[in-house]
Amino acid sequence: SFSQKKYYVQKKDIPSFHRKFNNFSHKGDFGRILLIGGDQGKMGAILLCSRAALRTGSGLVHVFAPWDERLVIQVGAPEVMVVNDFSLSDLGIFDAIGIGPGWGLEVDPNYFEMILQSFNSPVVIDADGLNILSKNPNLLKAIPPNSILTPHIKEFERLAGSFKDQIERLEKAREFSINHKVFLVLKGAFTCITCPDGSQYFNSSGNKYMATAGSGDVLTGMITSFLGQGYDSLSAAICGVFQHGLAGELASVKKRRGMVASDILETIPQTYLNLD
Ligand code: AMP
Ligand code: MG
Repeated sequence: SFSQKKYYVQKKDIPSFHRKFNNFSHKGDFGRILLIGGDQGKMGAILLCSRAALRTGSGLVHVFAPWDERLVIQVGAPEVMVVNDFSLSDLGIFDAIGIGPGWGLEVDPNYFEMILQSFNSPVVIDADGLNILSKNPNLLKAIPPNSILTPHIKEFERLAGSFKDQIERLEKAREFSINHKVFLVLKGAFTCITCPDGSQYFNSSGNKYMATAGSGDVLTGMITSFLGQGYDSLSAAICGVFQHGLAGELASVKKRRGMVASDILETIPQTYLNLD
């Protein structure tokens, strides 16, 4: 009963996944998101993530990170609001939540579980968020339906076990998405998005120069931003993955192998021009 459909996502397909905004829109229309992550020595990950969300068009970006480290965010991204604490009952003010970049592995899994249980809309889970899930598989059932998980291949192996080849890996991705009712973004060349119905979308943008530190954190910020702007999970994942790859292509024209994740996020705005 599940879909076996496979799609190849190209530039011409992207505009149809986008939401239109009008001239009377205000920042609330562009979404209020919360990004959770960062730890001593890993603040760059959540900073890159938040800058990418702003460049993707989020109206309001809040970051929950260790309070002693807040200057990293406030200097690196003055547009961001750093949150000292939040009550789980207030999470509903956010249109989307992204969890994991630079979070570290010292996080209390029960706390993570409570966040997941307290939010009624899809979340994006990446990096250490995924690593904590791998160590505490009982948390999987707390993930809101239609959430988006963005593992690279190593993270996916930790999450779902080993596979003998790429075919088996893609089949495992299907099983995982179906069983846990989540969208799985399996990152790498030709990133594969698997839907909870079993269908799979392969991305055509991006290049080898994107294999660089922080590249994935940028993607997490972009997908969370689209979710917060009111996109459904599939549209958010497809637009995020495609435009992330396109931003990498555009930045690498000048930077080649010297491209860094900050260069990728600075070219996100140009990806909109490319799609118009
Ligand atoms: P992460 O490993 O979490 O930093 O994520 C790396 C990001 O770079 C993912 O979005 C990958 O899809 C992308 N990436 C890495 N290597 C390649 C490649 N050879 N071609 C295209 N994209 C890549
Ligand atoms: Mg990563």
